[in-house]
Amino acid sequence: MTREVRGIAAAPGVVAGPVKWLASAPVTSPDDAPGSDVDAEIARAQTAFETVAARYSEQALNVTGPAADILFMTSALAADPALLDQVRAGIRAGQPTAHSVTEAVAHFGAQLSALGGMMAERVSDLRDVGQRVVAELLGVDPPGIPDSATPFILLAHDLAPADTATLDPQRVVGLLTVAGGPTSHTAILAKALGIPAVVACPDAVSIAEDTEVVLDGTTGTVELEPSAARREEVAAARARESDAPTGPGRTADGHAVPLLANVGSAADAKLAVRLGAEGVGLFRTEFLFLDRQSAPTVDEQTTQYAEIFEVMGDRPVTVRTLDAGSDKPLPFLHLPEEENPALGVRGLRLSSVDEGALLDQLTAIAAAGRAAGTPVKVMAPMVATAEEASYFTTKAAEAGLDARGVMIEIPAAALRSEYLAAEVDFFSIGTNDLSQYLFGADRMSSTLAGLQNPWQPGLAAAIALVVAGAEAHDVKVGVCGESASNPEFACVLVGLGVETLSMAPRSLAGVRARLAEVTHDQCKAAAAAVLAARTADDALAAARTALGRAG
Ligand code: PEP
Ligand code: MG
Repeated sequence: MTREVRGIAAAPGVVAGPVKWLASAPVTSPDDAPGSDVDAEIARAQTAFETVAARYSEQALNVTGPAADILFMTSALAADPALLDQVRAGIRAGQPTAHSVTEAVAHFGAQLSALGGMMAERVSDLRDVGQRVVAELLGVDPPGIPDSATPFILLAHDLAPADTATLDPQRVVGLLTVAGGPTSHTAILAKALGIPAVVACPDAVSIAEDTEVVLDGTTGTVELEPSAARREEVAAARARESDAPTGPGRTADGHAVPLLANVGSAADAKLAVRLGAEGVGLFRTEFLFLDRQSAPTVDEQTTQYAEIFEVMGDRPVTVRTLDAGSDKPLPFLHLPEEENPALGVRGLRLSSVDEGALLDQLTAIAAAGRAAGTPVKVMAPMVATAEEASYFTTKAAEAGLDARGVMIEIPAAALRSEYLAAEVDFFSIGTNDLSQYLFGADRMSSTLAGLQNPWQPGLAAAIALVVAGAEAHDVKVGVCGESASNPEFACVLVGLGVETLSMAPRSLAGVRARLAEVTHDQCKAAAAAVLAARTADDALAAARTALGRAG
């Protein structure tokens, strides 16, 4: 019987192939022979850092969107003079050159970890820089994607953003990581590239190089050494995907489910249109301004928003006002340091310290909408109370925006949705943050990935409450968190009464195809089964049965 290991579903799709481990990092030792000429060794280290920084920048120029931002940031890290200073000091103290790089990275890594939050998340980038510089100094291959002429499933303990950003989906057909979480960089980039991925799979450590597997990025299962017949079945299904239905999202019996895209740039919007998005359900405006040191003017913002609206034409676009703070700091807002930024002044709460930023943004969104003639909706992130919802919709109305909503990402907002619904035209449920706050589990923590699993019945229970509160005021409910991109869970969301689903553009085809296979009643039965399940595993199994999947 085929053995199976389980992780967390991170990017949808089923693929078959051999696994290949990410090439491991070169090891250095304090006992390696030090170079005899200190100045020459320092010059060699400097050249190695410069070469690595230049390679990251080169890679950044070949990609777009979040991948490019991540690579530029990592290039800046490799060019940080403090890092080279520390290496120089090590070499002068008699350490072998490559080992002094390892030591310097460990030193700064410990400092970043101690700072916590965003800073701690840079440790994996810093480690990646260090490993590449060491490889350069030792004249060995850098750690990273193995060279293989035939397609394979990449297996790694965890992936540095730089690895994920440069993946070639023709060669790397699936991703499997021992660590990582469903809302990590790896998951978001894998979805953007359309590569099925399973993360947080501890048993994957014992999978040997070249083992054949079937990886299911929708359920999180990995079958080890499947039969040849099973592998052929998967390959045939994958080949059929190109004949997947196009056009508006709907169930087999014709219940319409508009399929919308999550975008952060004009490039994303173009891809969304190409892949048949019926509109934008989440325009993450903060992505446009991550590197700004000074606040963008109303005119600058208007131009940027209008560019995206024009790409979308007459398809509706839901713009989210700045969701800065916590995992997305914006330097120009000069926010104070906080002990717990995820629980701090982020999202709509920023207007309590800088109301002008919100008002300018609403003015620019309204002006861009008028200029492009696009139906624009606006919503605020991180809304907890009915007063906050009412404050936001009042300001949006004053700016001349007619369709006004809030994101539901905080448990209190879900519990009191009937009161919030009285203030708004629509809700958009951000299941990434809603899971984080419902389960008290940091969305960046791979150790807690099991609690961020959308199949946790507690999440469905919260969504059901939101829908019930919304119905009382005839308010429409959409979902724009990562859970909407899971084809099976998307059916459950529809069964719970969610009306629109918004996701990374490359996830649209899989969700559209799955919805077309099931009836609205099957979706409702799957939703009821998830609500009645005791555990996440039971919920997944029961939903699959209700949706007509065997076993
Ligand atoms: C969410 O929290 O689910 C969401 C869509 O917003 P973000 O991931 O940008 O916080
Ligand atoms: Mg959020």
